[in-house]
Amino acid sequence: MDVIVAGDRAGLVKARHSLGIGLSGATLALVPTMGALHEGHRSLIRLAREQADHVAVSIFVNPLQFGPNEDFSRYPRTFDVDLETCADEGVSIVFAPSADDMYAQDRQVSVSAGRMGTIVEGAFRPGHFDGVLTVVLKLFNLVQPDIAVFGRKDAQQLAMIRRMVADLDVPVSVVGAPTVREADGLALSSRNRYLSPHERHTALALSRALFTGARGRTPAEILGQARAVLDAEPGVALDYLVLVDPATFTEAGDDHRGEAVLAVAARVGATRLIDNVAVTL
Ligand code: AMP
Repeated sequence: MDVIVAGDRAGLVKARHSLGIGLSGATLALVPTMGALHEGHRSLIRLAREQADHVAVSIFVNPLQFGPNEDFSRYPRTFDVDLETCADEGVSIVFAPSADDMYAQDRQVSVSAGRMGTIVEGAFRPGHFDGVLTVVLKLFNLVQPDIAVFGRKDAQQLAMIRRMVADLDVPVSVVGAPTVREADGLALSSRNRYLSPHERHTALALSRALFTGARGRTPAEILGQARAVLDAEPGVALDYLVLVDPATFTEAGDDHRGEAVLAVAARVGATRLIDNVAVTL
């Protein structure tokens, strides 16, 4: 079946109706994206297809989650290819609203990510998680999915969305999906296309540091081993390297037991990259 493209909220209502979603009991999974789709997005779509009768992919470069000096205007926009990818993966609905359709000129109310939105990644991107949660809640209200799939690549984003769903009683099941990597370890990202061949080589230090750190046994060992790899790569300008609780993103100290996330953010040339791996303490 052909993918239905909904360019605004009216189109979305029609698309939901024509597929019998909500009426005949057909279930819907949402995969929110900013487009420039790659294998990571494809893996989310495949996971979504396993869990629901229909999959909706939203493609929206959300101005609210970009800081004034970030890459909003040059963020890659590849809509026609993205549409082919979605058709290829059996997506039922592509929701691609304009910024004007999403945000009224006189809008007042938005979601606050709270204190958790100001730590780790939030400390480097003020307001970012407020913007993410606001658009995700709007997408949930518009698309009305039963489940929504997010990548663990953006681990703090996933944790924040789970927190929002719990704190605001949002009736959507959130599913986390594993990070897809290139054969050499680089986590797939729409921003990788900004990297020159030399920068791409330099960027491999991030995943190498995470894998090396994950072999440590204690928080100090894990952080120390990862740090040594990053320090040996002069082209990497580190924003942070942290070991945190996956649900709260607070520091996993010496007494932490169970799952933790070793997360890194760094700039390679003009490109800011993030990555993380799960470790068990
Ligand atoms: P984005 O288009 O970058 O906003 O990402 C849309 C969704 O894809 C988010 O839930 C991301 O976490 C997820 N994603 C991005 N890169 C990857 C990857 N390499 N592996 C798995 N999921 C990813």
